Amino acid sequence: MTAQILDGNALGQKLRAGFKQRAEELALQGMRPGLAVILVGEDPASQVYVRNKVNACAQAGFHSEKHAYPADIEPSAVFDKIAELNADPKIHGILVQLPLPRNFDTEALLDAIAPEKDVDGFRAENVGALVQGQPCFIPCTPYGAMKFFEEAGISLKGKEAVVVGRSNIVGKPMAMLLMHAGATVTVCHSQTRDLKAHCLRADILVAAIGRPKMITGDMIKPGAVVIDVGINRLPDGKLCGDVDFESAKEVASFITPVPGGVGPMTITMLLANTLESAERSANT
Ligand code: NDP
Repeated sequence: MTAQILDGNALGQKLRAGFKQRAEELALQGMRPGLAVILVGEDPASQVYVRNKVNACAQAGFHSEKHAYPADIEPSAVFDKIAELNADPKIHGILVQLPLPRNFDTEALLDAIAPEKDVDGFRAENVGALVQGQPCFIPCTPYGAMKFFEEAGISLKGKEAVVVGRSNIVGKPMAMLLMHAGATVTVCHSQTRDLKAHCLRADILVAAIGRPKMITGDMIKPGAVVIDVGINRLPDGKLCGDVDFESAKEVASFITPVPGGVGPMTITMLLANTLESAERSANT
């Protein structure tokens, strides 16, 4: 068996075309969806992610602003900027690019974002609403992963889903979304005993670990759907996922590549959340 590729670039483009149209409808009311991105420090990967987000906004006809600070900036200056953006009617979404320098209290800074502009969905209110199945901003990476199932017509009801990784930004919200969609979910992490045995039970396997090619073909149930969230840079400079694509694609029924899978969908769903926030604000 060779797995079908779940193409994040193609799905992202399709969804973004729809967002552009919705942004044009808002423009008729004199409004443009606006995203502010805050970047602290000089981490090269973060700089690339921020650039991609700003470019995606421009292509979709959104307004965007980048606020970049050196790593040694006083945290209070960034808190002040967030307060200013919270009150700015041009801005419907505020994103703080993570990770932040060590002297920052990440939780406190994310909590400073107004809940109605928390398009990353990381604030405690949003997380609580997600757990309760109430309307909320769904964190962009797991939201993007869910879109693959929808697009490919993959039903999750009654399926065994295994999520490897339990971070607040990927693993935990991913598990919650899969559970809401009717899957029976197991969450694995660094203390899990016999990871392979868990993975081999999975009809749906999501890898969000941050370890290059850790999930190999022999850990995958034949016919499983594999979502690879990992983005790892190899010594030769190439990117790879947490799944060993070459061996996995011979066993899985569907698989996301890296690059070109979950990554572009994360940015796409950031646009979706920003647009939704702008539409809510237009309707109030
Ligand atoms: P974290 O480092 O926050 O979490 C990694 C998780 O993997 C932890 O729960 C950790 O367990 C678990 N883990 C580590 N080693 C093992 C192991 N040997 N066996 C089982 N579990 C293990 O990472 P993130 O969730 O933020 O990101 C995960 C990956 O996804 C990274 O490669 C990141 O770059 C990528 N990413 C990609 C995005 C995209 O847009 N495509 C967006 C966000 C992230 P424990 O909790 O016990 O430490």
